[in-house]
Amino acid sequence: MSQPYDRIFNFSAGPCTLPVEVLEEARDGMLNWNGSGMGVMEMSHRGKVFDGIFQQTKAWLKELAGVPDNYQVLFLQGGATFQNTMVPMNLRGEGQTADYVVTGAWGKKSHEAAALLGPTNKAFDAKAEGYRSVPDLEAIPISPSSAYLHFTSNETIQGVEFFTDPVVSVPLVCDMSSDILSRPFDVSRYGLIYAGAQKNMGPAGVTLVIVREDLLQRTPANMQPMLDLKLMAENDSMYNTPPCWSIYMCGLVYKWMLKEGGLTVFRDRNREKASVIYRAIDESEGFFKGHADPSARSVMNVTFTLPSEELTEAFLKGAKAHQLDGLKGHRSVGGCRASIYNAFPLEGCEVLAGYMRDFAAKNG
Ligand SMILES: *Cc1c(COP(=O)(O)O)cnc(C)c1O
Repeated sequence: MSQPYDRIFNFSAGPCTLPVEVLEEARDGMLNWNGSGMGVMEMSHRGKVFDGIFQQTKAWLKELAGVPDNYQVLFLQGGATFQNTMVPMNLRGEGQTADYVVTGAWGKKSHEAAALLGPTNKAFDAKAEGYRSVPDLEAIPISPSSAYLHFTSNETIQGVEFFTDPVVSVPLVCDMSSDILSRPFDVSRYGLIYAGAQKNMGPAGVTLVIVREDLLQRTPANMQPMLDLKLMAENDSMYNTPPCWSIYMCGLVYKWMLKEGGLTVFRDRNREKASVIYRAIDESEGFFKGHADPSARSVMNVTFTLPSEELTEAFLKGAKAHQLDGLKGHRSVGGCRASIYNAFPLEGCEVLAGYMRDFAAKNG
């Protein structure tokens, strides 16, 4: 039952496990890409060879996600967190506010960053109930002078997720860092989507931004260049040196996902993977408790607690003997978290569920 290259089942929340096939291809691309005599890390970002890689990467992403023609695809730096600053600076005009939906730790950070720069409205906050559920976004009242509505489609730390693409009266901005490409989604419902690559797409160091072209006209004049979304788009993400290697790796992941059958296939796989672990929680007669309300249970990050700190410690320690690692929950929630992004195998979920059943039987 050993995994290729003696790899373990790595439940890390990010950076996280990548497909072995992609890593193998990248190994070759690191030394001599496609007979060019250069590795991808070593070539000029303005050269013909890398330009080919870059355009192909964008084309694969557009095909995979069904990105309409009036959207630009950008590969930026600064992480998803940098978009918490860039988005309000570019999209919120004079005299406008911006609405934020807070369903967990990342949404809270997004709101805080935007509030430092100008007017914001917390349109919804699930803090009082411990960030366990998600609201109906279409029913949330939006401020009259709102520039956009921001939400986090999957709260990575709490493990709560939205499963639909809502229709609202202002441009919808979404931090999709931890569930992008995990299911088919309708890009045309969004004004701007951003996602750090290191959960579902590739290594850390690059942030995908998909933005509707008309919104680029909102960027105020005299914006600092590195904060200027319009400038980034005009320069096709090459205003300065982009994270070439990370972009290349994302392209390999997109190609792999297309070959596997696209987003519908991954949605079905991800649902099955998550249900294997949630079933182990639900059948444990209260030994394991899921953090999220069942209606909002994330298919990417399964969060759960055990009856005591001692049992949690013992559970995490014992997990390593089963080649299961990265299960410690975020300190703000405690307990355990199984992050099972697109590249994580079903077999690892089954091994975890089996271990959970055995552990509950021995310690319950
Ligand atoms: C991981 C994560 C982030 C932070 O991404 P960085 O690339 O580290 O800035 C932001 N939002 C969500 C939902 C995340 O999961």
